[in-house]
Parts: sequence; C-alpha cells; structure tokens
Amino acid sequence: MKKIAILGSTGSIGTQTLEVVRANPDCQVVALAAGSNVVKMEEQIREFHPLVVGMWTEEAAADLRVRIADLDVKVVSGMEGLLEIAAVPQSQVLVTAIVGMIGIKPTIAAIEAGKDIALANKETLVTAGHIIMPLARECGAAILPVDSEHSAIFQSLSMEGRTPIEGSTHIEGSTPTKQTCVEKVLKKQNSIEKILLTASGGPFRGRTRQQLEDIQVEDALRHPNWSMGPKITIDSSTLVNKGLEVMEAKWLFGVGLDKIEVVVHPQSIIHSAVQYTDGAIIAQMGTPDMKLPIQYALFYPERRYLSGKRVDLFELGQLTFEKPDTDTFPGLALAYRAAEAGGSMPTVYNAANEKAVALFLKRKIPYLGITELIGKAMDHHHLIANPTVEDILAVEQQTYEYMQEGLSCK
Ligand code: NDP
Repeated sequence: MKKIAILGSTGSIGTQTLEVVRANPDCQVVALAAGSNVVKMEEQIREFHPLVVGMWTEEAAADLRVRIADLDVKVVSGMEGLLEIAAVPQSQVLVTAIVGMIGIKPTIAAIEAGKDIALANKETLVTAGHIIMPLARECGAAILPVDSEHSAIFQSLSMEGRTPIEGSTHIEGSTPTKQTCVEKVLKKQNSIEKILLTASGGPFRGRTRQQLEDIQVEDALRHPNWSMGPKITIDSSTLVNKGLEVMEAKWLFGVGLDKIEVVVHPQSIIHSAVQYTDGAIIAQMGTPDMKLPIQYALFYPERRYLSGKRVDLFELGQLTFEKPDTDTFPGLALAYRAAEAGGSMPTVYNAANEKAVALFLKRKIPYLGITELIGKAMDHHHLIANPTVEDILAVEQQTYEYMQEGLSCK
C-alpha cells in the first residue's frame, strides 16, 4: 500500500492527485492540508478517510471540526499543522501541491522524517534548492518531479540505458530504495549536453508589447493547452513560470544554466527532452494531462495504466518549435539573471512575481506591470550569497513590503 500525504489537496494538483489515488486502490491517503476551502476538504475527508488534516487558519480548522464531528479525524492548523502533516509517521510520500514559499519548511520536515517528495511546489526549489537538495541526499529522500516538464526530463533520463530499478546502486546490506534509483538516474548528468525545456508560449505568443498593454485578467487566465490554478496560469502567460522552471531544473538535475534551453512548442505534446553528448535527443510526449507526471512520481519506477486521450500523430500532423521572445516577455530573461546572481535573488524574483500577480488579479496593476515590478524589486535588492531558510523568508517579506511601498507612493 502506497501511503501519501498531500499539502494543497483542494487545488489543481491536489485534486488531480486524488483522482490518481481514486484509480489506484493500492494507494492510501493518510493526511491532507489546504488553505481555507473547508467545503472541499470535508468532501475529501469523507471520500478518502485521512487520519489527520490541516487548514491554514484556526478559524477554518474550527469550522471543519464542527463539520466532521461524526468522524475520528484529527484537525490541525497553521505552520505547526503543516509540519505535522508533512512528517506524519504513517506516510511514505509527501505531495507538495501548495503555492509559494510556505512549502519550504514542511518540505524540509518531510525530508528530515525520511519521506520521499513528489514535488509540485517549485517555489521551494527555486528559492531554497541549495538547502533542499543536499538535505535530501543526506537523509536518503527522493525528490520526484511533478511539474510536467521536469517529469519529462526525468523520464527521458530514466529511459536512457538500463531501467533505473535494474541500474540502481546497491548499498551493501540494503535493498535498492527509490532514492538510490533516482540517484542513479541523476548520475547521467555528465552525458547531458542540453536540457530542452519546452514552453507552450502561453495565450499571447506572437503578440507585440503594444498588443499586451490592454490585457485583462480573463484573457491571461485562458491557457491554450493546460488547465491549472490561477497563479501558475498567469505565470505561464508571462513566461515567468518557465523562468521558475529553469531554476527548478538547475537544482533537480544539477546542471548549469548554460545547459538549459527553453524551446517554445505551442502544441504542448513534447513535454521536454534531454540532448545527450552523442547528439541523441530523448523526449517524453503525450497529451497535456498532469495526472501522468503525478502518477509517475507516486509510483516511480513503475509505469502504470492511465486512462485518457492518447496522442494521435496523424491527427496532430505537425509539431513546431520557436525561440522564446524575451523582448516581449522579459520574465524569462529576468529569471536567468536571478539564477545567475544566485543566493537570495531567486527569492526576490519569486516573491515579487507572487505579489505582482496578486495585484494584477485584483486589477490593481496592468499586465505588463508584472514583469516591470519584478525587475525593479531585483534592482533594489542587496544579495545574500548563501541564505538560510530564515533569510529566505525575511527576503520574501522585505520584497512584499518594498512592492507595497512602491504602490503606496504612486
Ligand atoms: P492551486 O491554487 O490550484 O492550489 C493551491 C492549494 O494550496 C490549494 O489546495 C490551497 O487551499 C492550498 N493552500 C494555499 N495556501 C495554503 C496554506 N497557507 N496552507 C495550506 N494550504 C494552502 O495551485 P496549483 O495546484 O495550480 O499549484 C500548486 C503548486 O504546483 C504550485 O507551486 C505550482 O507552481 C505547481 N504546479 C502546478 C501545476 C498545475 O498544473 N496546476 C503544474 C506544475 C506545477 P485552498 O483551496 O483552501 O485555498
């Protein structure tokens, strides 16, 4: 029985993870956490019977306790609750499907408790990759990507040579763990010439900056290929999501930024690829469906049946590729700048974007203001070279405050 805990169970990734659980009877949910959506959480508790659940506010937790008074389920709240759920003794895997840097501490707690991580919460690696990756190695925890592009890269690495389970490093006196299988896959870093990170280009691909001036929230929320949460949908339209993914790939696969190339591929059929030193490119293709990478992360190295639409190459006809337009969409160039600076700069990039997207969603700033504000926040920041978790969270707050002050001055 695969026992899992989910942070962010009521969101886009969280609910799709539960769809995967529903289709796999040997998978059991032991803990769930969400922000404030008690109605959905109650439904999930009644269907999946977790032992412990968490809501962010105590008010929401109190409401939930009343709703499920007939059930024997522990309800916790706040960061303490998230930490308890992350490290709940009964789980083997933590699915990190919450948005933002709030995921850092629970991810660390889970790794320290020896859990594998099915990682969707890219902000954790973007801002604290220098802490998370060495800690995972030290604690023997596998970090399995859920992001479709990173899963595709991981699958492309796993497909090369022997299957990971056969090729896993056998530590004397122990059976090969999931972590050793992952390590084996990642040891292929030396034979990677390039990672080809694909991007759909979002709903505004091909437009000029002038044409983006009047973009409204509804336009930006209309992604051509993927159905996702609102924040990541806006990030996809600005290419900031691709910027975050470049940083995520750097940490997950241990490659330099010069080896990560973003390729715009509007059909979203190739989910990313690895180009090896002999020139071979190995890619993963499929219809855009997040359940595939979620399921792959949960059951790795096993590949299981998944229902749904298959790619029909004849129907598809052609696959096309373009270079990203970083003049019109500066979010990607700013990400490379933040990643090159390293230290606390990716935190500024991420925090400034979070705040700017929230302001755009509330119609307080124009669409082009999102990347403009990210650039300003980065220019203003004094770099911390090797930030601790506390530094990262402090920089996040300072960035929010800087942006708020900027707005109040207008
Ligand atoms: P959603 O906005 O759809 O869901 C966010 C989830 O987090 C909700 O369950 C929400 O609860 C919960 N949450 C928010 N704040 C807190 C908090 N303080 N404490 C506990 N739970 C909280 O996001 P997505 O599912 O789209 O994205 C989740 C992560 O996965 C992000 O990092 C994103 O970048 C990444 N990702 C998403 C993809 C996608 O297809 N959606 C693809 C690849 C990566 P509530 O409902 O109560 O507010």
